[in-house]
Amino acid sequence: MMHQKTIKELSALLHTKQVSATELAQHYLDRISSSGHNAFLDVNPELTLAQAKAADARIAAGNAGPLTGVPIAHKDIFVTQGWRSTAASKMLGNYVSPFDATVVTKFADAGMVTLGKLNCDEFAMGSSNENSAFGFVTNPWDALAVPGGSSGGSAAAIAARLAPAATGTDTGGSIRQPAAFCGITGIKPTYGRVSRFGMIAFASSLDQGGPMARTAEDCALLLNEMVGFDERDATSLTAEQGNAREDFTRDLNAPLAGLRIGVPKEYFGEGLAADVEQAVRAALDQFVKLGATLVEISLPKTSLSIPVYYIIAPAEASSNLSRFDGVRYGYRAPEYTDLQDMYKKTRAQGFGKEVQRRIMVGTYVLCHGYYDAYYVQAQKIRRLIADDFQAAFRDQCDVIMGPVAPSVAWDLGSKANDPVANYLADIFTLSTSLAGLPGMSIPVGFGAGEKNGKRPVGLQIIGNYFAEAKLLNIAHQYQQATDWHNRAPEGI
Ligand code: GLN
Repeated sequence: MMHQKTIKELSALLHTKQVSATELAQHYLDRISSSGHNAFLDVNPELTLAQAKAADARIAAGNAGPLTGVPIAHKDIFVTQGWRSTAASKMLGNYVSPFDATVVTKFADAGMVTLGKLNCDEFAMGSSNENSAFGFVTNPWDALAVPGGSSGGSAAAIAARLAPAATGTDTGGSIRQPAAFCGITGIKPTYGRVSRFGMIAFASSLDQGGPMARTAEDCALLLNEMVGFDERDATSLTAEQGNAREDFTRDLNAPLAGLRIGVPKEYFGEGLAADVEQAVRAALDQFVKLGATLVEISLPKTSLSIPVYYIIAPAEASSNLSRFDGVRYGYRAPEYTDLQDMYKKTRAQGFGKEVQRRIMVGTYVLCHGYYDAYYVQAQKIRRLIADDFQAAFRDQCDVIMGPVAPSVAWDLGSKANDPVANYLADIFTLSTSLAGLPGMSIPVGFGAGEKNGKRPVGLQIIGNYFAEAKLLNIAHQYQQATDWHNRAPEGI
């Protein structure tokens, strides 16, 4: 079936005209309309099929690129003309953007066909997709499990074969962790490589878009279109700073002999579930078979990444979200007495609980009197966290590997009323984000203790700045030797 194919395979079928972009788009639209995962927040078949028709014309005219006619769905953090852009918030419930995010434009220019918008945690705040104002998403491997978050819709859509490709955003793990929970592949690039223009802001010094797909090879093809300087994003890296476009597929087949893999001891301590540890260690053994050596390293500030992130991210969020005031766009409370009252009611009604909690924490840590004690301290420790990684890369290893999350996907509802339990589960992804490093997740097995089905385990691969091609090479070599990435949930 077409939906079992990778992007690479679909591209070949499209180019040899064994399938048309229109047939492919219709096939996925049919799958989406009959799926029960709540992964999509908006679809618009008319717009999708118009894009597919244009892709077919381009293929017929002989000026198609490798992704022309391949369908993609966008996390509802990227704004899109035509489809609603809600950030999974009531605040933007009916919002339609007058422009496309840069990432959306780049994929459209490559001829990709947009399938619709994907559910996520409200304003990308969360680790389970349960913070969406439009309902939770179920994990295609086990309907009782969360899909992870915040890019839970993206990961679930790929795992359920509702889309061969999706965009995600990662502020503290939101590409890597849902990829792990849903048994797919995702990469968060070096901070600044992918434009944030049109990506609804959460914490601007951390937010970074990236691709999610079945395989590392597919992620490389997608990343080829995604990166590059954008003058409309103030923190976008220029080509001179190292952000030139490059072919991320170029090193996919390089052998791994001699690769030094750093294994941080802090990632394997108490708190790591035995089933996750077992699958991750088996993956590390596979890399040894492929010619790599394992080196034990230490990232001593790992545990500080949680308090540091949960100061900095809410601080930036409280500032970014001040724009939602009911005046310019988005939700406005229907009844109010004066301007102050309108602001208050709009924000109390429009934002969900977790978003309100973060606005309050963020406002608190930025207050005169607390700023030095919390925000400035957190910024200092952020630098020390980044320094730990640099010491490891300088002296000991080429890449770092470990678990993505301390457990497999948890049960829906089990942590929904416990924000701290959610925050603690981010322990292995936050420091990479604080340091601005690239990181990816690949499927490496399944956990024990399944109730209703299997729950996947992800391996995290972290590289130095601009090491995306290396990470993709490493992941691809693993995927050539194993078949976890080809497994599909039952019945798909
Ligand atoms: N789980 C983290 C948070 O809630 C990370 C979210 C993200 O990366 N967008 O903030």
